[in-house]
Amino acid sequence: MRLLLVEDDKALSAELALQLEQHGFAVDRVFDGAEAAFIGESEPYDVIILDLGLPEMPGIDVLKQWRSKQIATPVLILTARDAWHEKVDGFRAGGDDYLSKPFHVEELVARLDALIRRSKGVAVAQIEHGGLKLDEATQSVEQYIGSGKVVTELTGVEFRLLRYLMLHPGHLFSESQLLEHVYNYDSEKESNVIEVYISKLRKKLGKERILTKRGQGYLFNPEKP
Ligand code: CA
Repeated sequence: MRLLLVEDDKALSAELALQLEQHGFAVDRVFDGAEAAFIGESEPYDVIILDLGLPEMPGIDVLKQWRSKQIATPVLILTARDAWHEKVDGFRAGGDDYLSKPFHVEELVARLDALIRRSKGVAVAQIEHGGLKLDEATQSVEQYIGSGKVVTELTGVEFRLLRYLMLHPGHLFSESQLLEHVYNYDSEKESNVIEVYISKLRKKLGKERILTKRGQGYLFNPEKP
């Protein structure tokens, strides 16, 4: 999942980015409202964390600008403690959820996961298709082979790629679309990296879970192979 973190407190931003990356997000960081308004329109984020008190342009105006340009990405706003009016303004401007500072990262991650599932039309906490169950907490997958349950650990990139595919079962993605959602802006991207990770996932999960459409891309097969 590609995430934009808009927070002008650099120490908090660095700490959050580290923890969010450990939870499987590819994180881009910006530190002022003007830059946020621009990058939020130009990059395909899956979710955005937006602090309201920002230099250059207030967070609430950034959010209004995105929404007026039909950017529908789910936005979680960070508000000052007990500032109930900020929450009301945030929802009115098109915010999807809020969290008051200070907060626990676990709560932030749980809220982000719920926002992403909702935006993709998935209501339940577990992502599961065709007998394959993705565990977001441990970044592993569970499947039944014969009568035995098999748990397979995934690396960070494998997890991000599989989660993205499983959130859109049966949907065809080009390699460049997958790259944009699995890596952040600054990553060094090898041209065949998606192919490499798809092949690693197939080795772990079986060949039929992820299908190739020649010259077009990849899709997650929601049927049990
Ligand atoms: Ca701030």
